Amino acid sequence: MSEKLAIVTGASRGIGKACAIELAKAGYDIAVTFAGNVDAANKTVEELKAFGVDAAAFKFDVSNKDEAAKGIEEIIAKFGRIDVLVNNAGITRDGLFMRMSAENWDAVINTNLSSAFYVSQPVVKVMMKQRSGAIVNMSSVVGVSGNAGQANYSAAKAGLIGLTKTLAKELGSRGIRVNAIAPGFINTDMTKDLDTSKFTDFIPLKRLGEPEDIAKAVKFIAVDAEYVTGQVLEVDGGLII
Ligand code: NAP
Repeated sequence: MSEKLAIVTGASRGIGKACAIELAKAGYDIAVTFAGNVDAANKTVEELKAFGVDAAAFKFDVSNKDEAAKGIEEIIAKFGRIDVLVNNAGITRDGLFMRMSAENWDAVINTNLSSAFYVSQPVVKVMMKQRSGAIVNMSSVVGVSGNAGQANYSAAKAGLIGLTKTLAKELGSRGIRVNAIAPGFINTDMTKDLDTSKFTDFIPLKRLGEPEDIAKAVKFIAVDAEYVTGQVLEVDGGLII
């Protein structure tokens, strides 16, 4: 049985991978989950093990309730406990609202929002028995401010904020804290096709964020911030002040 276990969904790449590394540095064993990128997930696991912790990769689709339940079951069977859950896996399918297909609406809502319900429910069951745990939901500044061309994504990320505050109220008495991080523009595969040069003008800190900027905030709110729950921490270089 692990001493401390963190599950990071979508940890094969980008922000999730950086979060996994930051939590490994803090001594957590890590369950890396991913959708299909086996090579990237295995590489993350090897990098995590270099920090002296145990790590393993679990492939399941977070937008599928049954797959998510089975995936979490496998993680519990291997590690025996769950201390931190980072609901990080997400996708974009951008387009103007009037041209948005129901398929792109559903894909984004299911992968970014329903996933947090599917994954958190079996995890909370374990945390309630332990009477401790921390959940971090990866929202976005566009869930706070809205964004033209991202009706599906903004709705999902705003939904995560509502879920965060509600779970904080429901689970606080069981020793479980639930918070959200709202990143601004972060350098990952998700943003690689955007012309981000024009965004820096609007960012007070005059640069895009790096996955490590988000990972440090996740580690703070999941591990150090023992009297913080139900909060949304914007990590965006000041973008939406
Ligand atoms: P990314 O580089 O595209 O990585 C996405 C990760 O999610 C990958 O590990 C991917 O697995 C996994 N994933 C995608 N769909 C999945 C599914 N159905 N089931 C399981 N895993 C799935 O994205 P990122 O930029 O790091 O974003 C991470 C989170 O931060 C997302 O929730 C995103 O919305 C949020 N965010 C990002 C930004 C930004 O500027 N990048 C800003 C605000 C919020 P595979 O590798 O197997 O495909």
